[in-house]
Amino acid sequence: MIPFRYERATDAPSAVVTLRENPGAKVLAGGTNLVDHLKLCVATPELLIDISRLPLDTVDTWGDGTVRIGANVRNSDLAAHPAIRRGYPMLARALLSGASPQLRNLATTGGNLLQRTRCVYFQDLSTPCNKRNPGSGCSAIGGYTRYHAILGASEHCVATHPSDMAVALTALDATVVALGPNGERRIPVPEFHRLAGDEPDRDTVLERDELIVAVELPPVVPGAVSTYRKVRDRASYAFALVSVAAELRIGDGTIRDVRIAFGGVAHKPWRAVGAEHSLLGAEPTLRAFSAAADAELSAARALPGNEYKIPLIRRTLVATLRELVE
Ligand SMILES: Cc1cc2nc3c(=O)[nH]c(=O)nc-3n(C[C@H](O)[C@H](O)[C@H](O)COP(=O)(O)OP(=O)(O)OC[C@H]3O[C@@H](n4cnc5c(N)ncnc54)[C@H](O)[C@@H]3O)c2cc1C
Ligand code: SF4
Repeated sequence: MIPFRYERATDAPSAVVTLRENPGAKVLAGGTNLVDHLKLCVATPELLIDISRLPLDTVDTWGDGTVRIGANVRNSDLAAHPAIRRGYPMLARALLSGASPQLRNLATTGGNLLQRTRCVYFQDLSTPCNKRNPGSGCSAIGGYTRYHAILGASEHCVATHPSDMAVALTALDATVVALGPNGERRIPVPEFHRLAGDEPDRDTVLERDELIVAVELPPVVPGAVSTYRKVRDRASYAFALVSVAAELRIGDGTIRDVRIAFGGVAHKPWRAVGAEHSLLGAEPTLRAFSAAADAELSAARALPGNEYKIPLIRRTLVATLRELVE
């Protein structure tokens, strides 16, 4: 580990000032991702700003039904919160499918959104990686690709985003509240993470001197049902091979509202807009679910080594939608 300075933030605005004044600074929340990267020298900050004791740790429901989740709310506390369990079961299930109970007790909402890819080459300093070292090349292309992208990949990076929580937040049309030198700005979660393009080192649109202070959930859609289904190598403590977050509202025998996102298939949580369009107004039948999968996956491109993901995400989407209407 390379030596660094450590400061404990006293409030969010002063943490932003410290971030702005120290280009080599990084924020520390639960530390479950960042501390690993410090040990591996994947992250080499000059200064760590510890925000873990800032009072950004409450879940509040506003008069209009919006739920505001503080950036420091732990994953386990969020999954257990009555407002989340009752109103957003998809989010509770996504959180509980992530990591292990011990990790969820430390991991925060802000840190989970900003966790970095689990591409093995990203964590291995002896190999080229455009995300870790821009311009050095991508070892995964032509290498080990079992966990890599089938949608929206670039010639510079084929990594996937590892978060479960972020997939549910993408489907739910949640909003990130970021505090920067010019005050707060709101970023829709579906636009928060980036495709790799020719800048794979940038995972999100968050600026270097911005702090996530909260995530907001829109009010519950009356009559909607939702869930999260994750396919992985073992039942616990494993990242998604693929996952589906889905919400449906049926009225008079047809689909009136639908929101779907995929995990494990792209550089960002993947909002399945093609599948949503295909399902809106349709009867909730197996045929309609298969057509929705076809609509979304016509653009999927496998790499040698991850061909299995295309039929797997297809079947997982159909099974998830069937579960919601049964
Ligand atoms: C063995 C293992 C298995 C795991 N399995 C899963 C899994 O199955 N599914 C899953 O979703 N996750 C999984 N995780 C990842 C885990 O969920 C993340 O490590 C955790 O959510 C990160 O949160 P943190 O608070 O610890 O972040 P930290 O490690 O403290 O920070 C992560 C990043 O976010 C930045 N950051 C943190 N908070 C803020 C903020 N408020 N504003 C701006 N920047 C911020 C930090 O600077 C850092 O870059 C696993 C982790 C491990 C170690
Ligand atoms: S897929 Fe992305 S993270 Fe993995 S080696 Fe290539 S550039 Fe690095």
